[in-house]
Amino acid sequence: MTAGVDSGRIIRALRGILPPGGGAAGLHEPRFCGNEWAYVKECLDTGWVSSLGKFVDRFESDLAAYTGAKRAVAVVNGTAALHICLKLAGVEPDDEVIIPALTFVATANAVTYCGAVPHLADSSERTLGLDPRRLEEHLKEITTVSGGPCMNKRTGRRIKAVVPMHTFGHPVDIEALMELCGRFNLTLIEDAAESLGSFYKGAHTGTFGRLSALSFNGNKIITTGGGGAILTNDEGLGRLAKHITTTARVAHRWAIAHDMAGYNYRMPNVNAAIGCAQLERMTEFLADKRRLAERYRAAFEGMDGVRFFTEPAFARSNYWLNAILLDESFAHERDRLLELTNAEGITTRPAWTLMQRLPMFKGCPGMDTPVAESIERRLINIPSSAALGADRA
Ligand SMILES: *Cc1c(COP(=O)(O)O)cnc(C)c1O
Repeated sequence: MTAGVDSGRIIRALRGILPPGGGAAGLHEPRFCGNEWAYVKECLDTGWVSSLGKFVDRFESDLAAYTGAKRAVAVVNGTAALHICLKLAGVEPDDEVIIPALTFVATANAVTYCGAVPHLADSSERTLGLDPRRLEEHLKEITTVSGGPCMNKRTGRRIKAVVPMHTFGHPVDIEALMELCGRFNLTLIEDAAESLGSFYKGAHTGTFGRLSALSFNGNKIITTGGGGAILTNDEGLGRLAKHITTTARVAHRWAIAHDMAGYNYRMPNVNAAIGCAQLERMTEFLADKRRLAERYRAAFEGMDGVRFFTEPAFARSNYWLNAILLDESFAHERDRLLELTNAEGITTRPAWTLMQRLPMFKGCPGMDTPVAESIERRLINIPSSAALGADRA
């Protein structure tokens, strides 16, 4: 065996945790073991499948109750939720919006839907999300504030908002970012697409920003097939979010009129029905995911050249996607590990390609991103479905 990461050991550790026979277990598969069939059947039997029906209202109030947000508005997907969050936060064409360079492309795409420009920032190795200290240094260097809007001296554009993302469900250091936003006159919006069920010092992620986005895509911790939600503690913004995502129709017994250019982003009732049933199982999903993460942690403990990523001390993470990090000196082994594991039917994936490497975001403004680049080189996501953590006892 050559010096370096022992791929054999890594694969044996994964095999020991995954079901016998391997199986082409995806990275994160949905599980339907509750009232999904009953609620969907009710939609089909009653004809309430589309834009009206009780499950949308129920899903919204269940989400608000679960997260502690004042208002939740269910929409067609997480990207649409982000788009509306940015719009309602006042992001305008030619503004800049700070996002992590290490994120799923939807965060950056939503910024462009507003005609704005992503401003890419570095991540912290402790959280895998925005690094508040490095961001502060960067802002001090490139902006002028003096009581008014935060202006980027280099580009002449206004920086309007910061969108931290809770990477793989692990909460970012959100308090430090809130404080920073206060000082630099920036609006905080959370991309909480991956972090339903994740808490920062006891409060649910997505309840710190002025607005936040959740996703219920098929690979997220709970799914509605496709879906998303906007969270906010501002009643007025909550009402506006509902209005603008439902074609901005003016309430009237029979007239059909609209008072602004709205969006048809509402979640159909049949999707919300699945969401209600999924949310009922949240406690169980979280327990299974925590058990799986604990098994991985134990399996990788003490292994040379690699470690299992665990939640930051201030957080309780949903462990949505589990990840291992190779030491920098073994980063060159990453592709071989990806090849070997996938060849064995163990689904593994690298981190997202950093935003500045994608053709449409080349040349975006931002700071140096050495940590995000290092994480990009060294991170491997490993199978994370809740079912893999089911109690075997
Ligand atoms: C999944 C995801 C989204 C988008 O959600 P969709 O429902 O797929 O549109 C946005 N941001 C992050 C970080 C995500 O993981």
